[in-house]
Amino acid sequence: LLQIEGLWKEYRGRPVLRGVDLAVEPHEVVCLIGASGSGKSTLLRCVNLLETVDDGAVFLDGLELTAVDVDEDAVRRRVGMVFQQYNLFPHMSVVENVVLAPVKVHRKRRKQAREEAMELLARFGLADKAAEYPDRLSGGQQQRAAIVRALAAGPQVLLLDEVTSALDPELVGEVLDIVRELKEQGMTMILATHEMSFARDIADTVCFLDGGVLLERGSPERIFTDPQEPRTRAFLARTA
Ligand code: ATP
Ligand code: MG
Repeated sequence: LLQIEGLWKEYRGRPVLRGVDLAVEPHEVVCLIGASGSGKSTLLRCVNLLETVDDGAVFLDGLELTAVDVDEDAVRRRVGMVFQQYNLFPHMSVVENVVLAPVKVHRKRRKQAREEAMELLARFGLADKAAEYPDRLSGGQQQRAAIVRALAAGPQVLLLDEVTSALDPELVGEVLDIVRELKEQGMTMILATHEMSFARDIADTVCFLDGGVLLERGSPERIFTDPQEPRTRAFLARTA
């Protein structure tokens, strides 16, 4: 479904991604792990075109996302992204946040978009928060609403960057439950995470990034119990 080929990214001449290759199958859940600064967020941001790439390419369903003449709105419709800090618009109610993309980008009728938004919010336990402003929600609820907003655009792939790391520990579980549910529904996802137990639990494939290099990948069982690379082993020993 998604192919990342030879992705290279530099900031002011300093390489941050050094030739990353990654293929993601439909319904696959890929977890990116690695030390702070290893390039996890940058990789996700390149896939979502929040960054330009210096070399390499990203393809979704045969469409080259990194082509110079690509329609960026079309890409963002097909690739959803949720960040560490929930990025709901504070001056809009939860349901208004969710209908924004369907109305503006998909040119859906507001009434229909609203009905679909309410359905999605209900599915994720947020029906009673639809009319509230984001600052009246708990961190976990805000993050769930941010995920619902990304889903409302009907993406083929969902990118999740540390969606739990800004949350109080007791709120982490409810967000992870949503991600688990999305996996059960067959959503294709790439997650950057520091939660090793979660990665182990949910990933089909775990990728270890080290200094912008995708050093090692494999099933969670293999990566967590039998890492081949000394640097993977050292990283896992530090996080255990
Ligand atoms: P973390 O686990 O802390 O989120 P990460 O793996 O997501 O880390 P990135 O955010 O992708 O790491 O950053 C990779 C490297 O790129 C870091 O050294 C960072 O300082 C650098 N970097 C990221 N964004 C920029 C930017 N806009 N300008 C310059 N350097 C940047
Ligand atoms: Mg990051």
